[in-house]
Amino acid sequence: MAMKCPYCGYQDSKVVDSRPAEDGGSIRRRRECLGCGKRFTTYETVETLPLIVVKKDGSRQGFDRNKILKGLIHACDQRRVGMETMMAITDQVEQEAQNSISREISTQRIGEMVMERLKKVDEVSYVRFASVYREFKDMDSFMDELRRMMDEKMN
Ligand SMILES: [Zn+2]
Repeated sequence: MAMKCPYCGYQDSKVVDSRPAEDGGSIRRRRECLGCGKRFTTYETVETLPLIVVKKDGSRQGFDRNKILKGLIHACDQRRVGMETMMAITDQVEQEAQNSISREISTQRIGEMVMERLKKVDEVSYVRFASVYREFKDMDSFMDELRRMMDEKMN
């Protein structure tokens, strides 16, 4: 579920503040539209059913947002990507994962959700993250990805 901006309808926003609402059953989030920069508030229901992550080998474990954040910190090492941005990406991915109807999500899908967002922020970090998540088998597939990125940029 995308949190559309009520002012301009833009799909992407960043979470600037997040706290439990007074009713205790939802989370109040203050968001900033990445399109027009205006701020708005959303109330999002807290999911009670746990979200299960299915790994490549088929094993399952509980969703852990810290793993996403650690992956980001690693990928963004020495890059100009602020902690705030990494936290926002983690928030968005967690939100999207939690909002899906299915209670199971693959590590691959999580990786893709992170990559979609990281790509817009910093391309070097994106490629680093992608190389870990897609587990490039060789340098060729890695270069293919780089080339694809450059092509996209020119179009
Ligand atoms: Zn907007």
